[in-house]
Amino acid sequence: MHLGFDIGGTTARWAAFDDAWNRVAEGSERIRDRRAPDDLQAAVVEMTREAVEGSDTDLESVGIGLAAHLNRSGTVVRNSPNLGWRDEPFGAALDEVLSNVFETPPSVRLFNDVTAGLAGERQVGAVQGVDDILAVYVGTGVGGAVVSGGDLQFGAGGNAGEIGHSKVEAGGRICGCGERGCVEAYAGGIHLERRVGGLVESDEVDGLESNASLSEADGLADEVEALDGIWRRATDALAIVVANACTLLDPAVLLLGGGVIEHCPTFRGRLARKIPSQVLEVVREDLEIRRPTLGDRAGPLGAALLAHHGVDGHSD
Ligand SMILES: [Zn+2]
Repeated sequence: MHLGFDIGGTTARWAAFDDAWNRVAEGSERIRDRRAPDDLQAAVVEMTREAVEGSDTDLESVGIGLAAHLNRSGTVVRNSPNLGWRDEPFGAALDEVLSNVFETPPSVRLFNDVTAGLAGERQVGAVQGVDDILAVYVGTGVGGAVVSGGDLQFGAGGNAGEIGHSKVEAGGRICGCGERGCVEAYAGGIHLERRVGGLVESDEVDGLESNASLSEADGLADEVEALDGIWRRATDALAIVVANACTLLDPAVLLLGGGVIEHCPTFRGRLARKIPSQVLEVVREDLEIRRPTLGDRAGPLGAALLAHHGVDGHSD
């Protein structure tokens, strides 16, 4: 049996697969109040026990996708603004705990959540069979992942694809990662929510309640000047970063996903319109923009696949 997790800021989802990659069980857990490393570890152990309950096959591997910068071997979370962690050996600690729970201990490995999502979409989703892909997911933050020549790219340190931390303004806005001027600090969902919240507080927008969602604000972005300005700046900055990455990588498919892309059609439409014209013509001609099709199921599947196959495509 193979187990995959997708750990977000508020919810952890898991799915278990048999050797033919049929989903044999799945579940989810609210973790908003369990984000300290020890608490989250306990939650993952509980979910792992639940996943294997009643199964008579050994748990071979556990893959965990989370929004984080990781070390090369996928054992340490170097920086996760979502979870508020720095240099947490979460994978290594979990590996140790699970080795005491199971007679035959599973291998445990951490992956960036967008990398895991892309692996899932490539297996059975929107980009099945595509060998050159740039994935950009706009959710709380802005994440990315790259498949080049048929292989997921991890880079020398394991952090290839971190497009959200491309700089768009020297010394600009402070980002969740601690650095300044990252595009995520202009176009990430948490940034957009803060800006919208500021407008509502200062009574600049009629028709928006104080608890308005991002998708409600998105519905007014074409009409309300102040919102239009925030949306314009965010999509301008993100479009040029994504277009430049396309020019650099020459992908066949640009996969645009994440909560903001899914729930904010005005934002998505503006972004998708602004990107192609800024991509080098010879790259643009064959570039296709797609959206993910597996929803919440891509992350656990991808994390499980990657943990089983190893990052270089070889089973370990
Ligand atoms: Zn950053």
